[in-house]
Amino acid sequence: MPKPPQTTSRSTADHHRRRRLIALAAGAVVAFGSVAIVAVSVGSAGAWDPQQLEQGATAEKPKMELEAQARAAAAVMAERKEEVKAENAAIDQVIQQSGIVSQAGPENKEVALTFDDGPSSFTGGILDTLKKYHASATFFTLGNQIDSFPLPMQRAVAEGHAVGNHTWDHQDLTRLGPKDISGEMADQSSAVTGKGLPAPKLFRPPYGAVNDQVVAEARRAGMLTVLWSVDTNDYKLPSPEAMAADVIANVQPGAIVLMHDGGGDRTTTSAALPMMIKGLRKAGYKMVTVPQLLLDNPPAVDQNGVSRTPVA
Ligand SMILES: [Zn+2]
Repeated sequence: MPKPPQTTSRSTADHHRRRRLIALAAGAVVAFGSVAIVAVSVGSAGAWDPQQLEQGATAEKPKMELEAQARAAAAVMAERKEEVKAENAAIDQVIQQSGIVSQAGPENKEVALTFDDGPSSFTGGILDTLKKYHASATFFTLGNQIDSFPLPMQRAVAEGHAVGNHTWDHQDLTRLGPKDISGEMADQSSAVTGKGLPAPKLFRPPYGAVNDQVVAEARRAGMLTVLWSVDTNDYKLPSPEAMAADVIANVQPGAIVLMHDGGGDRTTTSAALPMMIKGLRKAGYKMVTVPQLLLDNPPAVDQNGVSRTPVA
């Protein structure tokens, strides 16, 4: 099983509240820092230091890129408003039916590629591949990764991918009480909406570990619990060729494919992706987001609530 990114362990709702306070305090420090920089600039008006300017420009570049991607994401969200409405209605329908899905219906030859445990340093490369091959995907992200990797989050939305909830810090929710389960979900959603991105409507439980309480808490938060029908076992590091071939051999229309873009070295997954996309396309499959998949291929009402392979 992939090792989730480690942060401070915590198991109580109080800990959630403490973390939020720390985040607020950090924000205040950043804001204060900005004010201080402005004051220094004004104070030293007239001084011209090309080296300082160069350093400033370098530091500004990632910030400008992030702002540009955030603007692009906001524009795409506005543009896709009606589509998203239809997708959300399709998701709500499945929430009402069963609250959980591992495979969509077979109407159209579509599959959903999904990536768990990011965003990470591998997500950008995966987004590059998806862009190059015009494929869409769904990212089930961890709340505690979002501040470290905000750029791929914004990019994913700007490039038409879906962002789901994979909890704050990858705990086995079947070992937690309802308050902590809902805290894990709510903290991740807050981290996403805090970046100006839409609140996740899809939830994937860490390790695929679900029980009725987990599904009920996700439903209460307006989210559909999404498992998978094809497991790439990418955490076992097969060869990229074998991984791609395995997926191509095992998909069916409506399949949901489990991969990882975080939680460890994802070189294999990144290398397998172009082969996988090309092979799936050759077999006539379209790669869509999970919301699109559910809209185009309504799933069967009765779906097994227990994960077949508990390793998300
Ligand atoms: Zn996971």
